[in-house]
Amino acid sequence: MVNDTKGHSAGDIVLNVVAERLRSVLGNNDAVARLGGDEFAILIEQIARPEDAAHVAQQVIDLIGWPIDVQGQSVWVGMSIGIAIGQGDPAGQIFKNADIALFDAKAAGGNVYRQYEPAMGATVAARHLLEFDLREAVRKNAFELNYQPIIDLTTGLTCGFEALMRWQHPTRSAISPLEFIPIAEECGLIVPLGKWVLREACREAVRWPSNIRIAVNVSAVQFQRGELETIVADALLDSGLAGDRLELEITESVLMQNAENVVSSLMRLRTLGVRIALDDFGTGYSSLSYLRRFPFNKIKIDRSFVAEIADPEVAAIIRAIVGLGERNGAAITAEGVETEEQRDLVAREGCTEAQGFLFSRSLSADGVISFLEARREIETVGASGNHLTDRSLSRSG
Ligand code: C2E
Ligand code: CA
Ligand code: CA
Repeated sequence: MVNDTKGHSAGDIVLNVVAERLRSVLGNNDAVARLGGDEFAILIEQIARPEDAAHVAQQVIDLIGWPIDVQGQSVWVGMSIGIAIGQGDPAGQIFKNADIALFDAKAAGGNVYRQYEPAMGATVAARHLLEFDLREAVRKNAFELNYQPIIDLTTGLTCGFEALMRWQHPTRSAISPLEFIPIAEECGLIVPLGKWVLREACREAVRWPSNIRIAVNVSAVQFQRGELETIVADALLDSGLAGDRLELEITESVLMQNAENVVSSLMRLRTLGVRIALDDFGTGYSSLSYLRRFPFNKIKIDRSFVAEIADPEVAAIIRAIVGLGERNGAAITAEGVETEEQRDLVAREGCTEAQGFLFSRSLSADGVISFLEARREIETVGASGNHLTDRSLSRSG
């Protein structure tokens, strides 16, 4: 990321500083090497107890976490560490075990160390396999989009659909996006995958009545190195979808990294008419502070709040979020509405829209049309399937 955003000479400075810091932790008999890219190895020849290796690892992590001055700007990097202890084992084996432990450290979110344990091998192998299958699936385009309706609580009509990715694994049962999206983010596959989602979702949405929007989830990685603005502009142009019918859902993790760049990117997306929603509101560390950084068009209240809305304190929190949203002119969607009671309560607290199993689970592309037909939100037009007559069109004549 440093290379991409600040240039290679900045990357070289970071590598040099990291190397110096690694050296400063080690004794005279220890060795440190750069294996390539952003990978380093430390060899400690003498340790009394396994905890000694852990101690060095923690020192390294703490030290690497300090800001690095690059051409007058502060850069932060992190480090994950895998530890393997060999007693006469072949070097190749020790490296392999350290690699497995490193994988575990990364999977735990990074900036931690992990000591190799034999049981780690199996989980790492499973994850490698999933990553391999995911690459294969991207190549073969083995994904589908499903769409979950979003209901306007004042009119009771469908005001949009959220596109949700589905992967039917060739041998396992369907794999949840909660499992494969983090892997796709880590190995960069989310960039081509996210591009496909945007294009497919826009292409599908032009078939719907013009008052119905499409919401697409966008990951932080897509902002960092995804040419997101071009991809969005092209998806709109190629599909013919009006910009204000596309809504991008981002979580606060998008704003956590390099907030200034992201905010200016969001502003430019807004000039295309695209709307921006803050997703999973309330689950992060500082959701409130992000509301001040960017004028969101919509706040989506996470379903963990909706599930507990019967609790007066939770209801009060929802009311407060609604108040904040109203001041910015933002719509407020309650996520995960499963019962009529929840729907009535979120409506009473001022949420303007709701989404959840009460209305519908996510639907296939054809399912969307049937859903709208069943609710008489579009007219059923013969078998030829021309759905262009929608209520808003026939009303406006
Ligand atoms: P999300 O953005 O919060 O999406 C809503 C999730 O809640 C969906 O799960 C949906 O099926 C589920 N849900 C909806 N209504 C209810 C309800 O009433 N009760 C309960 N218990 N759950 C409900 P899904 O489809 O498994 O997606 C999980 C997450 O995966 C999404 O959470 C989103 O963060 C991510 N995701 C899905 N598709 C994409 C994509 O195309 N791109 C990116 N970057 N992320 C995606
Ligand atoms: Ca979402
Ligand atoms: Ca959500």
